[in-house]
Amino acid sequence: MTIPFLDLKGINLAHADSLQAALARVLESGWFILGKEVDTFEQRFAAYCEAKHGIGVANGLDAIMLALKGYGIKPGDEVIVPSNTFIATWLAVSQCGATPVPVEPVEATFNIDPARVEAAITPRTRAIIAVHLYGQPADMDPLRALADKHGLKLIEDAAQAHGARYKGRRTGSLGHAAAFSFYPGKNLGALGDGGGIVTDDDAFDTLVRTYRNYGSQKKYHNLVQGYNSRLDELQAAFLTIKLATLDADNAARRAIAAQYDRLLAGIDGLGLPHVPEWAEPVWHLYVVRHAQRDALAAKLAEAGIGTNVHYPVAPHLQQAYADHGYKEGDFPIAEAIHREVLSLPLWPHMTEVQVEQVAAAVRDALSTKN
Ligand SMILES: *Cc1c(COP(=O)(O)O)cnc(C)c1O
Repeated sequence: MTIPFLDLKGINLAHADSLQAALARVLESGWFILGKEVDTFEQRFAAYCEAKHGIGVANGLDAIMLALKGYGIKPGDEVIVPSNTFIATWLAVSQCGATPVPVEPVEATFNIDPARVEAAITPRTRAIIAVHLYGQPADMDPLRALADKHGLKLIEDAAQAHGARYKGRRTGSLGHAAAFSFYPGKNLGALGDGGGIVTDDDAFDTLVRTYRNYGSQKKYHNLVQGYNSRLDELQAAFLTIKLATLDADNAARRAIAAQYDRLLAGIDGLGLPHVPEWAEPVWHLYVVRHAQRDALAAKLAEAGIGTNVHYPVAPHLQQAYADHGYKEGDFPIAEAIHREVLSLPLWPHMTEVQVEQVAAAVRDALSTKN
């Protein structure tokens, strides 16, 4: 038996005919950058997110960075970020010349703890980035109240949460702007890199469109020092096809997560995902927790089961942030999470039998007989 961590090939082969037709259409059009495929995808994706505007960009990191630029984040500013997230959330802040200020998560949900945010706000704070980690929405209402109280922008890093809902509302519609990644392995993935920003804010929309295209609205006239960060026509055409089945894919992920929940319940020392009653996650990842995580991963590997760690090293302990002067113990909740989490296989067309096999292997690996 071998069960991969993710069957990316199968995910895309399910759309092979439509993807090939889209390739033929774009090839025939002779138009590859910022054309009607991007327009169509931007409109459909914004509507999907229950937001007014969608802006296609080159990748998820750029989406976060450009959202910050769109709100004028600059050197000397501080931006509140989760202490446990993928490094891109922090890098986007650093790329604006601003300083990421980490705040610890709620242990049970892995997402930023609104109760700890206010203490991190200083006169230099300009924005809060909430990450919907593993596909589960962060607790947005208290974050929005804090942002409003202190005059801050609230930006969603929704790179793992396309289609998730918070109190019935879609991620992407919960802050001032939201950033998405269409990296192939995300819930909505391109066949290459891609990213998007959604917002209801007209002025921000105009400025971010300008930033993504060399800072110009009129060719060769540059209003701001912009970037080349555009979603291309081909990836947009692919994404429009895959967007049509995103809800069905997310429903399939939900069923798999529910099956894992049932089959893994009651194993000593194994922490299972906790979903608050207001959250409707989309299970980008199914993440369990165990004190002997590495040993568990090794036994699963022996049994032919692929797993992953999201993520092994907390951002504040990365060499890239050595100059920020953090040390081990500064963010103990994030550090413990990074030591103990393990992501199990999950993709939309994973079979019930495969989920049973993974669950049985986990149970086996953790039984006291071993
Ligand atoms: C994937 C991811 C990103 C970055 O997206 P890319 O398209 O890889 O640049 C940012 N934030 C989070 C939480 C992610 O998972």
